[in-house]
Amino acid sequence: MDALKPVTAFGPDFPFAYDTWLTHPAGLGQIPTARHGTAVAIIGAGASGIIAAYELMKMGLRPIIYESAKFGGRLRSEVFEGTDDVIAELGGMRFPASSRAFFHYVDLVGLESSPFPNPLTPTAGSTVVDLEGDTYFARGLDDLPQIFKEVAVAYRAALEEHSDFSALTQAVRDRDPGRLKALWDPLVAKWDERTFYDFIVSSSAFQALSFRHREIFGQVGFGTGGWDSDFPNSMLEILRVNLLELDDHQRLIVGGAESVLQRLWRQPTTCTHWPDGTTLAGLNGGATMGRAVRIGRNVEGGLTVTDGWDVARDYAAVLVTCQSHLLTTSVAVDEALFAQKLWMALDRTRYMQAAKTFVMVDRPFWKDPGPDGRPLLSMTLTDRITRGTYFFDNGPDRPAVICLSYSWMTDALKVLPYGPEKRVELALAALERVYPGVDIRSHIRGNPICVSWEADENFLGAFKGALPGHYRYNHRMYGHFFQKDMPVEQRGIFLAGDGISWTPAWVEGAVQTALNAVWGVMTHMGGASRAENPGPGDLWATLSPVDLPD
Ligand SMILES: Cc1cc2nc3c(=O)[nH]c(=O)nc-3n(C[C@H](O)[C@H](O)[C@H](O)COP(=O)(O)OP(=O)(O)OC[C@H]3O[C@@H](n4cnc5c(N)ncnc54)[C@H](O)[C@@H]3O)c2cc1C
Repeated sequence: MDALKPVTAFGPDFPFAYDTWLTHPAGLGQIPTARHGTAVAIIGAGASGIIAAYELMKMGLRPIIYESAKFGGRLRSEVFEGTDDVIAELGGMRFPASSRAFFHYVDLVGLESSPFPNPLTPTAGSTVVDLEGDTYFARGLDDLPQIFKEVAVAYRAALEEHSDFSALTQAVRDRDPGRLKALWDPLVAKWDERTFYDFIVSSSAFQALSFRHREIFGQVGFGTGGWDSDFPNSMLEILRVNLLELDDHQRLIVGGAESVLQRLWRQPTTCTHWPDGTTLAGLNGGATMGRAVRIGRNVEGGLTVTDGWDVARDYAAVLVTCQSHLLTTSVAVDEALFAQKLWMALDRTRYMQAAKTFVMVDRPFWKDPGPDGRPLLSMTLTDRITRGTYFFDNGPDRPAVICLSYSWMTDALKVLPYGPEKRVELALAALERVYPGVDIRSHIRGNPICVSWEADENFLGAFKGALPGHYRYNHRMYGHFFQKDMPVEQRGIFLAGDGISWTPAWVEGAVQTALNAVWGVMTHMGGASRAENPGPGDLWATLSPVDLPD
């Protein structure tokens, strides 16, 4: 029976039940009446910024949002020119069911989700794996040659051998913080400084197999493919993905992930202090501020944010959600606002590259049967430049979308200097080798949509990918919301977002850190959680992530 309890993104570093905190009828907490209406600045209109703003508005604060690029941040859904609703998901596109805090907001705004067409899933229908010139067609793992099954079995065995994985998973299912910490905390010291590749090659299971098995693992991995891009990363980060099932049971948001944030921006909610019908959009006068260029302490002891037009505004607190390396490149932040050890963490944080190339096509023609009776094209994993090709069916007679290529790191860098047309050409050339004779070109409509997050000055990278030895940096950033013991001159500025979380590249981490920051801002303003619904800071002393000595 126990095994049937769902896996949720609970811990493992800080096993606090964010979903329970969010849904408790007592609410997240309250702020003294005298502080109601106080303005707080939020830098970034992405998931963490908008969600934190929404919760702070409900508590009676006035969150003023700054956004230098586009609303939505890395949940950007771009509409193909000439259509109303045919979209390309440029950032987050597949959301694991374990992302409970994120799905709380999906449900709150009334959006639907549906299974994502991942490799070897029924939703994809069929998958083609193309490696070293050999092409395999499969509807599920069982259809692939034996060597693929050996790889899958070996990875399970490696997880058991190196991390007592079944027991860990059970502790996550049980939401048992004590058991989880007892199992996880020793793994932190053991694996922080070792890579994903080391984890694979040092396991007995992979040692008994060939190099070819490791290569296949790198291409096809344990879920969505392309895992060799992560081989140099700290194994802790990969373990979290496995343990919290972030690469499993993934769903897309119908209408686009960005609409979660658009709706939170526009949707009225019951707030303390603010009249019925209040919205984030309304409190912000219908539009966000522009770029924040400077953050500093003012003479009253509050914080001042200066925008790109050199207009300075004072705030009681500031929440920064942009990527941390932007704080030393494009936002001038008073050095005294953070401890030097935190600066080290913010600046050492390593961001990965990612590129996507989308085209709109006239209809889901890839489903048409080819001469062999199989679909013309299938979800494709390959060692060629495209790496992953995904198909999005919007209905039989409607324009459909192909993500011709989703790649990371070196594969993303290969296309970095090129414009959309050249990227499409490169992708089509690769796919034409996998599917000789299949005509994709005549189905393309409109203009391609491409992204390289590392080329955008507002991001300079796609998402964090912690390197070996980065646990301490992550600990400093993640724990920064708990400011009780901090020097006064460092209080009042908060951090949240993908790069602050333990689970970068997954929006759930951005949401959880936003909720930490909500608790931090609330207590900074003299507020507190309700006793019956303690928040993350209230349980920090007992649940805080294990310390590694400096
Ligand atoms: C390619 C890609 C694929 C992904 N896939 C998935 C997925 O499938 N599933 C999943 O769960 N997650 C996925 N993610 C992760 C998810 O998209 C992120 O975790 C989440 O969107 C990050 O939200 P955030 O608020 O932390 O940051 P952001 O969304 O980056 O928000 C920060 C905002 O700050 C703005 N900003 C920067 N500088 C300034 C400034 N000076 N002044 C004002 N504003 C500024 C930026 O423009 C940005 O809008 C993916 C991310 C990427 C990039």
